[in-house]
Amino acid sequence: MSVLDEISKAVDERGEEFTALSDQIWDNPELRWNEHDSMAAQIEVAQRAGFTIQRQVAGIPTAFSAEYGAGGPVIAILGEYDSLAGLSQESGVATRQPDPANTSGNGQGCGHHLLGTGSLLAAAAVARFLDGNGLPGRVRYYGCPAEEAAAGKSFMVKGGAFADVDAAVSWHPASVTGVMSADVLAYCQAYFSFAGVAAHAGASPWLGRSALDAAELMNVGVNFLREHMPPDTRVHYAFVDSGGPSPNVVQPTARLYYLVRAPDVPQMRALYERVVKIAEGAALMTETSLAVEFDGGSAELLQNAVLEQAMHDIAVRLGPVPFDDADRRLAQPFLATVSPAEVAMARAMAGIDASDPSPLHDGIIPFDATAPRQRAGGSTDVGDVSWVVPTVQCTGAVAALGTPAHAWQLVAQGKMAAAHKGMIHAAKIMGATAASLLTDDGLLARARDEFDTRITQRPYDCPIPDGVLAPPLRAR
Ligand SMILES: [Zn+2]
Repeated sequence: MSVLDEISKAVDERGEEFTALSDQIWDNPELRWNEHDSMAAQIEVAQRAGFTIQRQVAGIPTAFSAEYGAGGPVIAILGEYDSLAGLSQESGVATRQPDPANTSGNGQGCGHHLLGTGSLLAAAAVARFLDGNGLPGRVRYYGCPAEEAAAGKSFMVKGGAFADVDAAVSWHPASVTGVMSADVLAYCQAYFSFAGVAAHAGASPWLGRSALDAAELMNVGVNFLREHMPPDTRVHYAFVDSGGPSPNVVQPTARLYYLVRAPDVPQMRALYERVVKIAEGAALMTETSLAVEFDGGSAELLQNAVLEQAMHDIAVRLGPVPFDDADRRLAQPFLATVSPAEVAMARAMAGIDASDPSPLHDGIIPFDATAPRQRAGGSTDVGDVSWVVPTVQCTGAVAALGTPAHAWQLVAQGKMAAAHKGMIHAAKIMGATAASLLTDDGLLARARDEFDTRITQRPYDCPIPDGVLAPPLRAR
């Protein structure tokens, strides 16, 4: 039996158990840094599969690792489990309808219940493979908290969690299947808190110093900055505190949350410093004071073409996710809720012929290591892992084509048969990639060579300044 066949068999044997685990995490969606029940459910299953658990990786309460094997190289498989606020949605329903059984209001809008469970399933299959063949080597699953705008893995990297790892493998649920090879943006985020002086807005406004004015002036300043930003950079903001709902007071507090993205960490940092100057200017103009709290950030991805090619070859040999007509029939109403532009983007990315009517991806994204990289506008904290250890990721189709992440449509499809099939499929691709790295010395050596060359040219530049701790470890 080939490595892929052995891994596929081991994945299928545990398919039901892990499908139930993924549904269990979907049913109880927890937010970043608070994924206690999701982590406990994963640990229980990992222990049952014979893994040794290490809790509080890098000191973070909801980060853990689960290891199996002895000697040999260490191959990491990365998982996540956090959800998003405000995305409660009834399972299988193709109209926006919050789930009445869900008391938190959260929802698995990025499919992380599948992500973490599929990765743990891949690790369990690799454990079985090592055992069955009496091979040396270790597979280590990392339960990574707070991917959603919180950079859990970046703080784990900063805490040295991957110091003895030889290569890392991961995936992300999506509407298409294949190797993830696009560039992503480095990012950082920070809170800008303005403090002023309250006053009666009618009787004595000249005695007040408005923090709300400062926040508005900061946003105006940043919006003028946009013309002079490098291409492919982005700045987003949200009001966390606008000072309150009363127009007849001079607001003494206001707080903004900013997110700055750029193609690499140095450009991101330069742009962030300009944003900080604008905030300082806004405080000066309004005679308010400013406190800046750096919250987190992630580097851009450092791709590894050797690993991408190996993973792509495995995906091609495995073939598309085995969707059937029932899956397609159930996916159709979801396709109708997504904008045609999103669907067209997904089709173009996956190289799907425009005449193909299937609402699900029945192929593998083409991959050419020599072609220029596409640019994805988002960011991921896998980026930081990729700068300390050769890393590769794939996507697995779990929903109708073009289903956007961070949307109710992905929540609604998260427990459907198609989602389970996509997760099991991704576990096979990841498991076979990890098992190949454990059995083919040449593959791991070539991946490491490429990695060493790249980081000699440009070393890792950690986006998180020294002294900034993961949010659960900060004094409040
Ligand atoms: Zn995600």
